[in-house]
Amino acid sequence: MPIKNRFAELLPEITAWRHDLHENPEILYDTHRTSGVVAEKLRAFGCDEVAEGLGRTGVVGVIRGKQTNSGRVIGLRADMDALPIHEQTGKPYASKTDGAMHACGHDGHTSMLLGAAKYLSETRNFDGTVVVIFQPAEEGGGGGREMCEDGLMERFGVQEVYGMHNWPGIPLGQFAIRPGAFFASTDQFEITIEGKGGHAAKPHETVDSTLVASHVVIALQSIASRNADPTGQIVVSVTSFETSSKAFNVIAQRVTLKGTVRTMSPEFRAMAQERLTAIAETTARAFGATAKVNYIKGYPVMINHEAETEFAAEVARAVSGDCAEAPLIMGGEDFAYMLEERPGAYILVGNGDTASVHHPEYDFSDEAIPSGCSWWAELVERRMPAA
Ligand SMILES: [Zn+2]
Ligand SMILES: [Zn+2]
Repeated sequence: MPIKNRFAELLPEITAWRHDLHENPEILYDTHRTSGVVAEKLRAFGCDEVAEGLGRTGVVGVIRGKQTNSGRVIGLRADMDALPIHEQTGKPYASKTDGAMHACGHDGHTSMLLGAAKYLSETRNFDGTVVVIFQPAEEGGGGGREMCEDGLMERFGVQEVYGMHNWPGIPLGQFAIRPGAFFASTDQFEITIEGKGGHAAKPHETVDSTLVASHVVIALQSIASRNADPTGQIVVSVTSFETSSKAFNVIAQRVTLKGTVRTMSPEFRAMAQERLTAIAETTARAFGATAKVNYIKGYPVMINHEAETEFAAEVARAVSGDCAEAPLIMGGEDFAYMLEERPGAYILVGNGDTASVHHPEYDFSDEAIPSGCSWWAELVERRMPAA
């Protein structure tokens, strides 16, 4: 079964929604206009319930099938937020807000899920309940986590949950997915090394925090190379090294290091935090300095569940004839929190040959809309077939 014909008919309308959202990007939780547009459309489609304000600015719509005997409830999730990037696409519908841009295609994700919600509200050709979830603050703000903390899954009785992201480099109309760990955990750290500043000509009277910090940077490389099983994935990167001295002849009192830890396994993640803290503290002590570690947990590893991944791939094959194996992605994804709460899967839909996401010339491809919408609709009709 190829693309659903109804989405070919709806394409101009869904594209117009997408361009409107693209023109009006909003960052993190400030998706007030976007959330308003989404809620208004869900009501106009005739959703049985529309709830606002979950995870601050998240929106949820409930669509009951023509039967609900199966008792099944499926969550479908899209993200709504944009990025603090100055757009350089030159498109007629380019961002009207300087310094904000839909550079990750969340305008496309929101429009495709709205398109699916419109179709599902019209047809209701399923036995069960669909919960469409529109979250803010995917780009580092943890909007998905906040929606879960607000009781999203329990309140709407969601039993399994699915997500979709466009991906440049995958051909238009094609899909890719993988079971298990898919997107990395993304933690950050800040290490403050306190020595004893002084005259650069009298180093023996100081505790040189710059020298200590240099040893810490090198020792941190042993986490990936000597503590982690080499068949797994982990990145430990120090990205900022700032001393408190700005002079040629002053040994710095303090150095601040910043960086990121990314892994594909919860075990590596816990190990990295433990080792990083121990290395910083004990290396500093060895030189007579002290180290204070602030380890900031970001998104967990996003893990696709086996059975739901196979089902998602089966739906993709039904829509486009094929489903490729996706590569591991060392970026983070907020949908990880929803997959920690409920079984489900996250799939990539091809955006064709475009600039990569988060690039100022990136744009979501409207030609992806019929496949994306068809995947959502087919997923519902297959998982909860009407009698
Ligand atoms: Zn992004
Ligand atoms: Zn994104």
